[in-house]
This record gives sequence, structure tokens and C-alpha cells, in this order.
Amino acid sequence: MRSRRSLLLGPARLCLRLLLLLGYRRRCPPLLRNLVLRWRYGKVCLRSLLYNSFGGSDTVIDSAFEPVYWLVDNVIRWFGVVFVALVIVLTSSIVAIAYLCVLPLILHTYSVPRICWHFVYSHWNLILIVFHYYQAITTPPGYPPQAKTDLATVSICKKCIYPKPARTHHCSICNRCVLKMDHHCPWLNNCVGHYNHRYFFSFCFFMTLGCVYCSFGSWDMFREAYAALETYHQTPPPAFSFRERMTHKSLVYLWFLCSSVALALGALTVWHAVLISRGETSIERHINKKERHRLSSKGKVFRNPYNYGCLDNWKVFLGVNTRRHWLTRVLLPSSHLPYGNGMTWDPPPYVITPPDSVLAV
Ligand SMILES: [Zn+2]
Ligand SMILES: [Zn+2]
Repeated sequence: MRSRRSLLLGPARLCLRLLLLLGYRRRCPPLLRNLVLRWRYGKVCLRSLLYNSFGGSDTVIDSAFEPVYWLVDNVIRWFGVVFVALVIVLTSSIVAIAYLCVLPLILHTYSVPRICWHFVYSHWNLILIVFHYYQAITTPPGYPPQAKTDLATVSICKKCIYPKPARTHHCSICNRCVLKMDHHCPWLNNCVGHYNHRYFFSFCFFMTLGCVYCSFGSWDMFREAYAALETYHQTPPPAFSFRERMTHKSLVYLWFLCSSVALALGALTVWHAVLISRGETSIERHINKKERHRLSSKGKVFRNPYNYGCLDNWKVFLGVNTRRHWLTRVLLPSSHLPYGNGMTWDPPPYVITPPDSVLAV
């Protein structure tokens, strides 16, 4: 950006100097010379008043877009409650349809072992969705201390004017710094950070699993209900009772909602799984990409210091220390805390792969 600007400004300055030199040689009128001098004096005064060594075209663009950022931040902040209510209402509607419409059909048509399997799996899935969503919205993501500490900090937050530990970023919607910030999630009305990142990911994963289960499980019922819906406009109209009509419409709604959420949330879950496998957060993904390009232009290789290898990254993220933890901490609801305090990033003792030496900020 800078080199392109100097490319454009260089010839322009040269032209201006030549014009001024020519003007002096031809003895330009005193009024014009006076105007040029005043123009130069005014420019120096303005620059000296507005001078900032950190200023640049990026600062000007940021300042120009400040009202837009302010509006977006406030809309997300106030609509967060609406989004959370929407998640609760839509999930509850699917559960209600499953109990009122799907369960009576299953009880009449499926065998007992099949009914038992569906009963156990669906309730296990539902408990994990509710648990992780509740934990994700109620657990604070973690904030750096605002008192004086001896902790190693990377920089100072320009908004909070407090030291920022490594992996901490400022959330403009929460208006404070967040430890190991991933992103601000409007569906949780909360920031995703060090203490609730696992809950967020587990919620996405189990919600996707639940939606895939509902879409595949209700496929035959959906086809029958959709075919019945298409006969509604026939003459004479089919003799369906009110309850049957409601069941048809509910099954079509269930299938369309679950398959769309499975696709959208599934894609988001896969993306976050890739980031976790690399030991990166969503914000670090952009920072590390830039750093990778910067170092590669100098012939160096960038290595993420928080990447312990795919399996160890998952173990650290999920808080799995022993084999039993895969069952008790991943497949069952668990409120264990993540490793570390979110301010210092020494690798856990069970991580074998040493972190790389180049630091990412
Ligand atoms: Zn801050
Ligand atoms: Zn936030």
C-alpha cells in the first residue's frame, strides 16, 4: 500500500517543484507568490496540529467508517437477545413436534429395540445440546485483569488502555478485552473466548448431529407428509382430520428446518474443527496468514507457537488428559475448566510435541 502511494506521490511532487522553479525564474507576480507562501504556511500549521506518527490512510478509512461500525455493533448487541430467543423457540418447536407428531407414529410402526435406540440416542443428543448451549451463553469468555500484575503482556489495548496478554483481543460489541478471543457470537449473545470456546464448539457439533439425525430419521415421514400436502388442493378434497393436517405440516417444517440448519451449521462446525486442529482461533487465522506472507517474503517460515499437533490440539481444547475423559468430558455433559488461565500459554505436561519458537501475536 505504502509503496504504491510513494509511486504516485513521487512524480506529483517532482512536477510541483518544477512548476514552482519555473514560476520563480519567470518572476511570478508578488500576489501569486504571496498566495503560494500562505498556502505552504497553512499546510505546515495543519500538519503540525494533526500530526500523529501512527496516522495513515488506514486511520482515515477507519475514522470514516466509525459510524457504520458503531451502528453494526449496537444492532448486534441489541439483537443478541432476539437471536437467543429464536434459537430457544426453534429448538423447542422441533422437540415438541418430535414428541407430539413423530413419537405416536414411531410407537405404532417401529419394533421395540428400534424404539429404544431412538429414545436413548435422541435424549442423549438433546441433553448435550441444551447443556452446551446453556453453558455457552452463561459462561463468561474470560477477561484480562485490570489491576497491576506481573504477567507478561504483548501490547496495550487502544480502547481499554490496559495491558493485553497473548491471544487476547478487544471485542467492540462487548466493549472489553477477551482472553483467547475467537469471535463475538450473536446466536449466543456472548463472546467466544478461553472459558467458553469448548461449549460453543460442542453446541455446534451436537446441534449439527441432532439436525442430521432428525433429517435422516424423518425422511420417510416427510415424503409421505409432503405427498399428502400436495393432495390438499384436489377436488373433492381428501378427508384428513385437523390433527392429520397439522401433523403433515409439522413434519414438512421439521424436515426443512433441520436439513437447512444441518447444512449451514455443519459447514461452520467443520470450519471451526479445522481451526482447532491447527491450534488457531478465527482471529489468529487472519493474523497468522498475514504473518506467514510477511515472513515468506523474507525467505522465513512462520510457525504457530500454539500448534501442538492435531491430536494434542484437540486434547488441549477438549481438556482430555486420560482415555476415560473422552467419555466423561466429551460424550457426557462436563463443566471442567480449560487448561491454563488464558494469559500464559505454556504447553500442558501431557503434550509431547514442543511448540515452535516463532511467536504469533
Ligand atoms: Zn480492550
Ligand atoms: Zn463480544
